[in-house]
Amino acid sequence: MPNRNVYHDFHVHVGERIGGYNLRDDFADLNRLCGQSGRSLGAIGVFVTEESRGNLKDKYQRMLERAREDYSQEVFWHLSPVQSSPDEVIPLLGKHTDIKLYSTYRNAGLYSSYEQIERWMDALAGKKTRILVHCEDDATVEEYSARYPFKRPHDHCLRRPELAEIRAVERVLDLAVSKQHPVHIVHVSSPQSALLIKEAKSQYPGISCETAPHYLLFNEDQLKQKNAHQFLCTPPFRKEESRGMMVELLQDNVFDILTSDHCAFTDADKDRYKDDPEQVPCGIPGINTLYSSMESTLVNSGKLSLEALDRMLRIIPAKLMNLEDRIDQ
Ligand SMILES: [Zn+2]
Repeated sequence: MPNRNVYHDFHVHVGERIGGYNLRDDFADLNRLCGQSGRSLGAIGVFVTEESRGNLKDKYQRMLERAREDYSQEVFWHLSPVQSSPDEVIPLLGKHTDIKLYSTYRNAGLYSSYEQIERWMDALAGKKTRILVHCEDDATVEEYSARYPFKRPHDHCLRRPELAEIRAVERVLDLAVSKQHPVHIVHVSSPQSALLIKEAKSQYPGISCETAPHYLLFNEDQLKQKNAHQFLCTPPFRKEESRGMMVELLQDNVFDILTSDHCAFTDADKDRYKDDPEQVPCGIPGINTLYSSMESTLVNSGKLSLEALDRMLRIIPAKLMNLEDRIDQ
């Protein structure tokens, strides 16, 4: 019998160091965090980001062991190579792993050019390993960041505009369609990129995408309020018009799944540079409220059916994580 009281979260950051800060949560924290909601958290998709000094294989091994010891449910792994070559990464790939690449974050050392993304597709063509892509066109981000200095939290919206996401999504979709290579676009925040994805899916069904509750529930005005630095995440919240369209697209089944992009920092780390927003670590929590926030806003108001929510938070995530035979779905 399917266990409908479970939800899965395909996009979770735990147990890593990001941008010089340790994430607030490790595997051991998840059961406690998610025990409070009516639904229980099942499988999660966790990122393993290669560090500039270190190697992906060793880090993956260490995180696998910690997950085995401290997390009681299944884990799917998104491996994010930085300097490792495809030859080094391919032996690590299996049924419960895929690859994550970034079209931005040059300073953090995570950036891949579109040509590099294409080379990964070529290298993975035999295995058809899905590639997750954080889509923001780095040249566009650089251009707008130069134009808008980061003085207040809301400047984040100007420095990383929807246009950056749209441009990168367009390029990555072109590659996915022409190479017929599975691609998953993470944290879609712009309705226009969602429409591009919808169109590309009709040409190649190996494309999937996600959005997160914060792009459906919050708009950029949140970043003009008190303690706005606590809401800094990337991509930033968008204009109200875009937020409204995102909800309509969700109702139209454009998004395969909902994920939290849970990326929590301690209050001390988030608050330390609140007067210098560029230094504030980007990311917000959400794994514990992923199901309940959508149910209490969209389902209870009649905008979304419970079946649609169940599909985006349980059935499709389980498929994407190849867990149909391993979990009571
Ligand atoms: Zn993320």
